[in-house]
Formats: sequence, C-alpha cells, structure tokens
Amino acid sequence: MDFSTFSQIFRSAADKNGVFTPTEAQMQQFYKFTEYLSEVNAHTNLTAIREPIGIIDKHYIDSLLATDLIPKGARVLDLGCGPGFPSVPLAIMRSDLKITALDSTAKKIDFVQKSTEILQLSNLNAVSGRAEDMRLRKMLGKYDVVVSRAVARLNILCELCLPYLKVGGTLIALKGAKFEEELTEATNAIKVLGGEVIKIEQKELITAENATETRGMIVIQLKKEPPAQYPRTYAAILKKPL
Ligand code: SAH
Repeated sequence: MDFSTFSQIFRSAADKNGVFTPTEAQMQQFYKFTEYLSEVNAHTNLTAIREPIGIIDKHYIDSLLATDLIPKGARVLDLGCGPGFPSVPLAIMRSDLKITALDSTAKKIDFVQKSTEILQLSNLNAVSGRAEDMRLRKMLGKYDVVVSRAVARLNILCELCLPYLKVGGTLIALKGAKFEEELTEATNAIKVLGGEVIKIEQKELITAENATETRGMIVIQLKKEPPAQYPRTYAAILKKPL
C-alpha cells in the first residue's frame, strides 16, 4: 500500500472514531512502523492482523481510543505491550508522555526497541521481563499511568499492574465487550490492592467496513500503596487469583 492510500485510510478511520488525525510527520511514522511490522511479521509471529487496513483499525485506532484518559506529561507503563500496542501509537501521537513498554517475550521487545530507533521515538523505551519478576521491583510505584491491552483478565491484571503506580496514579485497562463481567470478577482484587474504579468508558470502534466492536476502558485509581507481597509469582496468582 502506498503512503497516500495509507494516510487516506488512516484519516478516515481517525475521523470516524473521533481520534486526533496524525500530522504529516506522524503519519510517516505510522507508515514506516506498518512497513517494519509487516516485514518482521512475515518471518516472526508478532500479530495475527496482517493487512494494513486491519492494522490501522485494530491496532492504531484502538490504541488511540485511550489518549484522552492520559494526563499531559505522564510517566506511562504499557504492561504486556506485545509488538507495541498501545505504546507505539501513543508515543507517536503524544510526545509529552514518557513511556516504558514492558513484555515478557524478548523477540517482541527487540522489535519495539528497533522500532523506536527507526521511528526516532525518544519518548519510548522497551524493557524485557515479566511484570511479577523480582528483577523489576525497582520499577514499582513509579508510574502515573499503566495501560494494558489484551494481557490478562482484570482481576489478574490488577495484581500485575496496580503495584507499578504511584499513589493517585491510574490503571487504564483496555477491554472488549465483556468488560462488565471482568469488572465484577475483579471487585476483590481492586479492593485488596488499594484501587478504586473512577471511570468506565464504553466506546464503539468503527472499522473500515463500518462494523462496530464494543470496547470498555476501565480506569482504576490507586488510592493507597498495595500490600508489599504483590505482585506474587505468576504460579501463585493463577493458583489463587484475588
Ligand atoms: N498489548 C498487546 C499484546 C497483547 S498479547 C496488544 O494489545 O496487541 C499479551 C502480551 O502480554 C504478550 O506479548 C505476552 O508476552 C505479554 N505478557 C503476558 N503476561 C505478562 C507478564 N506477566 N509480564 C509481562 N508481559 C506479559
């Protein structure tokens, strides 16, 4: 797909979904990222979504639905970023943010790291590791915002994410249509970890074919420091989820 077709499709998707349209320079970054993602994805499995139109809708626009929920200048952690969602689209569109992208799969982090060089994204750094790993304890309590898409059910996600927040910071969990069910299931986890749901935003993602898909963005604020034993090991989390 050439650049002009790409930007036309992106612009129309941004309009339809009420997200900011990228500037010419930002559009170039999205285009380069799409090319690099497709190139690497041809031999290393990074995402099942392979067509540029799908990448624009399901990865870029979907990631950007959360932009309005992130305060200016925030230190953001994208927990379980995969090949960079939502971190890369956010880094392109929000130069005010300082974003760390974390994933347990080294090849995905290598890809994100290389992408930051290709796109010259100075506001994004990539870290390889598991969220519950002792090695990352020094990052706990350091972020204004944690964002996470398609990583774990909300009760488990809260244990992985909330300890990374400063008190007063917010977890933005990007969820699909069944977000209410997950929210009910996570009631205890949110309470035990010192969180409080402050906002639930439902949005309809409109695709290029004008199909709609429900998204639920759940914003949980950390009211007090979580007990020091969290996050536990992944085995312990799975054995006895909060
Ligand atoms: N957020 C991306 C990727 C979702 S797939 C997107 O929306 O496209 C889930 C990702 O979370 C995988 O890449 C997996 O490696 C990562 N992951 C799962 N559990 C994790 C953990 N405990 N710590 C860090 N990364 C984790």
